[in-house]
Formats: sequence, structure tokens, C-alpha cells
Amino acid sequence: MVRICAIASGSNGNCYYIGNNEEAILIDAGISRRKILQRMKMKNLDIRKVKAVFITHEHADHMRGIRVLSDLHSIPAYFTPKTYNRARPTDRPEKVVHFEAGDSIQIGEFTVHSFSKNHDAVDPVSFRVSINGFNIGVLTDIGEPCENVTSHLNKCDAVFLESNYDEDLLWSGPYPQHLKNRVASANGHLSNNQAAELVKNLKSSKLKHIFLSHISAENNKLDFALESFKEIGNTINVMPTSRFEPTLVLELTTTR
Ligand SMILES: [Zn+2]
Ligand SMILES: [Zn+2]
Repeated sequence: MVRICAIASGSNGNCYYIGNNEEAILIDAGISRRKILQRMKMKNLDIRKVKAVFITHEHADHMRGIRVLSDLHSIPAYFTPKTYNRARPTDRPEKVVHFEAGDSIQIGEFTVHSFSKNHDAVDPVSFRVSINGFNIGVLTDIGEPCENVTSHLNKCDAVFLESNYDEDLLWSGPYPQHLKNRVASANGHLSNNQAAELVKNLKSSKLKHIFLSHISAENNKLDFALESFKEIGNTINVMPTSRFEPTLVLELTTTR
């Protein structure tokens, strides 16, 4: 049995759980250790199972909690060297393992495939995790989908997929012009429509579950994101994530 859950998702903090009966990994630790533990407990997820935390990039909403979490629980933190060097010294844990974008890293039965993507960070990566025959993608903070993103998404059974902003809300919203430009740029974030298009253009029919992730507080509404995925929802299980609470724990089981 594989269990996945967004412990936190949004522009103010990201943390994604992928586990089986024995072990688990986290992707990003963008909220405090205290909140990660609180929320995992709410969902009966055990921090002692977590064998590694993988960091996607140096933005605070992805690594705010990593040092304390890693140091206090003695969980190795996986960074690319460039991301590690760009991180504030106060965010750097003691137990660090370096990898390069493109590496596949084995953690127990988990194979964590890393790949680079378009985003305005020094060395941004995303991950596809293979475990017990399932493939789970964590695809957030993507300006423009590249070949890497498409080909890894094609292999996924379930994905945490960025659906960051609604175009109209962004352009009419409170952000200063340079920030609006940044969000919408090829190195910013995926809009609801871009994310939906990405899924519609997939050649694979494997994808069964989508968590709409990294939803902006200022430039989006969950209803708008869901609306963009309405048609997709006829064939794929589309679920929301939240900045305030963990999602449901999705259980993936083989039906053989
Ligand atoms: Zn982010
Ligand atoms: Zn980012």
C-alpha cells in the first residue's frame, strides 16, 4: 500500500509525503517542523518512517523547515550542491546528501528520479518517485512545461501538479507589475489553464489522480482551478490541496 498526502501546498509552504507500510520520504519542508509534525499526526503519518527529505529549490516556501526537521529527527536532507550553496546558512541542516539534477536516488524501496525544470531558482528540480509499482510526481514551481516535465508526468499514476494562478486574477490583482510578469514568465509558475493543457496533451492514460497544488492565495481561487480541470475530472480523480491543512491521504493499491 502506498500512501500520499500534501502536508502543505501553496505559495506560503510546501511539503509532500509519499510512503509505504515501512518507509516514507518527504519532498520539500516549506513549513515549520512543528506544523509538519502536527499535520502528519492528524493523518496518522509517522515521522519515524521518513528516511529522507528532498529539496526542490531554495525558495523559502520549500525549505523553511528543513534544518530543524532534519537536525532534530536525524533525517538526511537531499540537495543539489548549487541549491545548498544558495540556501541561507541558517537553513542548512547537518546531514546533507548531494545529488545532481538527472540522478535517480535509491532510498529503501523508493527510487527518486530528479530532473531539472524551468523556474527562477539557481538549480530547480522536480521529482518522480517510483515505489511498489506506482509512480508519483511532485511537479510544482514550473514556469513553462519542458520535455522533462512532460515525459515524467507521462509516467505518473498520481501527481501533485501546480495550478498556481488564474490569468485574469493575476493581471487584475494586487501584485506589482514586475511580480506579475515574474509569475507568468517561462521561469515562474503554471496557471490553471497551462496545467490543464499539460494534462490534456498527455499521451499516457496511466494518470488517475491529480492534486491541484501550489495554489496562489492572491491570484487564484480553488473553484477556478477546479473549473479548468472540469473536463479532465470526468476521467481523472481531481483533488484540491490546502495551505491550511493536510489533504486526505490517498491510498494506492494494486488491483490484481
Ligand atoms: Zn513555491
Ligand atoms: Zn519557487
